[in-house]
Amino acid sequence: MRAFQQNELGSLLRHARATVPFYKTRLDPIFKADGSIDWSQWSKLPILKRADVAANYEAMQSSKLPDGHGPTATDTTSGSTGLPIKITFTKLIGDIGFTMGWRAQRWWDFDWSATRVNWLGGLPADWEAKSRVSKGPWGCDDDAQAQRGQFYNYHVTTSVDDKLKHLHDVNARYLAAQSNVPYAAGLDMLKTNKRGKLDSMVLFSTSIEPEYYATLYEAFGAKVHGMYSSKEAGSIGFTCSTGSHYHACAESVLVEILDSDGRPCEVGQSGRVIVTPFYNTAQPFIRYEQGDLASWGNSCACGITLPVIEKLDGRILHLFTRADGTRFSLSSSIDKLGPILGAEFWQFAQIGPKQIEVRYKPTGSRDILREEKFSALAQQEFLLGFEISYKIIKNLPLTKGGKFIKYVNETY
Ligand SMILES: [Zn+2]
Repeated sequence: MRAFQQNELGSLLRHARATVPFYKTRLDPIFKADGSIDWSQWSKLPILKRADVAANYEAMQSSKLPDGHGPTATDTTSGSTGLPIKITFTKLIGDIGFTMGWRAQRWWDFDWSATRVNWLGGLPADWEAKSRVSKGPWGCDDDAQAQRGQFYNYHVTTSVDDKLKHLHDVNARYLAAQSNVPYAAGLDMLKTNKRGKLDSMVLFSTSIEPEYYATLYEAFGAKVHGMYSSKEAGSIGFTCSTGSHYHACAESVLVEILDSDGRPCEVGQSGRVIVTPFYNTAQPFIRYEQGDLASWGNSCACGITLPVIEKLDGRILHLFTRADGTRFSLSSSIDKLGPILGAEFWQFAQIGPKQIEVRYKPTGSRDILREEKFSALAQQEFLLGFEISYKIIKNLPLTKGGKFIKYVNETY
């Protein structure tokens, strides 16, 4: 795999150096005088930040695509940071994304002859009428069974009742959506006797928190699978059928996980995700900081030998900040204290340099003693020096864009 990756990366680096002004000298540290590549110098290549991409869109465009990679299209992404960037991508990277998705759907034993629904934003004005018309098969192109499959798009901002009716009317067995949308719907459904009837969900865009699994199984009867991807890098990983960990798409993207000093992380150590997609030759992203935190896992017993990403944490700007400027993630650590507080759901917000607000819905009535006990343990273990206050909420707090951010830093 390493030999294969170096071959693909070598082509990408040479292409970028020759046809992309932004990379004309940026890749010099890895090239020897004779034009060959010294892979031991890989870590000397600078990390590409989102702000670099925002400032250098024109300079990052290739003047000449390799044969078979085009045509190209453009898209913009605001990401979780709100800093919008424009991206040019190739048809090849899109096609490879489909292939990676199909492979994962085989791991998950999906039936491509059944119906799938996607909950999406940004659909055209006449989306409602079109939501009842099949958009055709969604499984692998050359699979005969898959030709009988149907998929439909439905708008993500509709009510839970409308979404459930649509799933029922088109006889959906699979659903793909941004992970917190079905979770928010599931929480609503569990307050009533409404239930969905799905086989599986494919969740993307935001991390899948541990409590999502039981809620989604109870509300929709669905098994939960994850897709980790970005507009910048295409497919990055898909969850294994044996758990919540991801197998990286090592044939199409180099995934690095680095510590704060830029050194590769050990298994189990959380660090920044750096991606280099091999086939985005229109606008190469070489050592791009994706804006996520993740940790490697040990090799998987399922038989798939692709690298294991054990845990995908929230986006970097949803990390919390200590008075000395260090950033930290609360998600996995604080979840374990949940039973002490007794919350149906919660949101942690950093609202000042030393202020944390816990917004939650108690499972029973509010209990000040439980809050005090929770504060004491949280402060002792993770939040030394922070003041913790509490606010009771009735519904899951969503951003204007409809996202639920469980650990949100509002001090930026
Ligand atoms: Zn596995």
